[in-house]
Amino acid sequence: MKTVAFHTLGCKLNFADTGTLSSELEGFGFSRVAFNEKADVYVINTCSVTENADKECKSIVNRALAKNANAYVAVTGCFAQLQPNKIAGFEGVDLVIGAGDKFKLANILNDSFITRKKKVMACEIDSVSDFVATSTEEDKTRVYLKVQDGCNYNCSFCTIPLARGKSRSDSLDNIIQRANDIATKGANEIILTGINLGDYGLDGRTGERFATFYDLLQRLDNEVDIPRIRISSIEPNLLSDEIIELVASSNKIVPHFHIPLQSGSDEVLRAMQRRYKREVYSSRVNKIKALMPNCCIGVDVITGFPGETDADFNLTYEFLKNLPISYLHVFTYSERENTKAVNLPGVVELSKRKERNKILRELSEEKQKHFYQTQQGKQHRVLFEKNNRNDFVYGYTDNYIRVKHKYDESLCNSLVDCTVDSLDNLMASASLLKPALAEQF
Ligand code: SF4
Repeated sequence: MKTVAFHTLGCKLNFADTGTLSSELEGFGFSRVAFNEKADVYVINTCSVTENADKECKSIVNRALAKNANAYVAVTGCFAQLQPNKIAGFEGVDLVIGAGDKFKLANILNDSFITRKKKVMACEIDSVSDFVATSTEEDKTRVYLKVQDGCNYNCSFCTIPLARGKSRSDSLDNIIQRANDIATKGANEIILTGINLGDYGLDGRTGERFATFYDLLQRLDNEVDIPRIRISSIEPNLLSDEIIELVASSNKIVPHFHIPLQSGSDEVLRAMQRRYKREVYSSRVNKIKALMPNCCIGVDVITGFPGETDADFNLTYEFLKNLPISYLHVFTYSERENTKAVNLPGVVELSKRKERNKILRELSEEKQKHFYQTQQGKQHRVLFEKNNRNDFVYGYTDNYIRVKHKYDESLCNSLVDCTVDSLDNLMASASLLKPALAEQF
């Protein structure tokens, strides 16, 4: 039996795509092994957001070849779409496959594996209009389900629309069926995933809207028999009152939002071509907290975008400091080929970008500690995962607090009512509630 190993970089969407590519190859008779094992075929699913994507890709190719110098190496994903010829030039790469042909991998591989000719398959991204449904492995406790792909926005720093193409979505009926299948196979949580998830509902071929993200949430809430549904990330301008109200009233959609901000300065937001001002952002956060005081809110933010002055950065810092948010994901701006931002004036020195990043990471730690402290002693339902690591089992509360408990097999992949106890380096420990208390919760 031929063996295949995968290496995935980047976002959860890529992990969902790898999950489906892996199942398809298994359907073609391949057996999956870990990437650090000897395999006949190595598939590298790349990301364009990663800094030094080319160096990283090259070093992963070399790691594969060190395990098996005769291995067949296929490279796909966003970086493969953006720089196919560069990757084809890497020693040892047999196949480069862009966004349009990614899900033909199993068929292509069957043919290429025999002929072993170097192939480069990357079409013009504008011609990619089909949605391909993917999800991470379905035997897991938590499954990432891709419902939307691509993006029609044109944020000036972002290469994702060039790598992933236009916004397109799965049908409502198909998503309901897939979500119920995932639940039937034993998962307890589905994480809805997309590039611009809030823009769900566009048909990639016609560009017409057949549904909204709110429609999708409503149907999932009513028709899917799973304890938890989580929204991975949503743009602030697409986070409507009705979505927030639905989450607040739902027993399935958990109180956790991840909302990209990128900057707290309206000037910088304008230069980034973001579609909102800071007031929109704060109004979303305040609405959420008014309806769900225990809701966890994560924020993406970029430091050192061209033209970001000290005053702009201070606006961002103060804005975030005063908002009841729970954690930050901080990115240092870096130039990307073929984006508008590379031509903008006011380049910020790298040292300053990094210094600002450090300041915001410290703020993130304070915010996270504070959020966890507000939850200490409160009762939450924890979904424990399947792994035993150092004699502990780990899980998340509905509002995204990472907790651990001494390993007990009966806890794995189950929802357990717990009290959030002490904090240890941004990890909370949980004590299980006695059944009587659990019932009251
Ligand atoms: S919304 Fe903006 S940052 Fe997000 S994928 Fe689309 S263009 Fe990129």
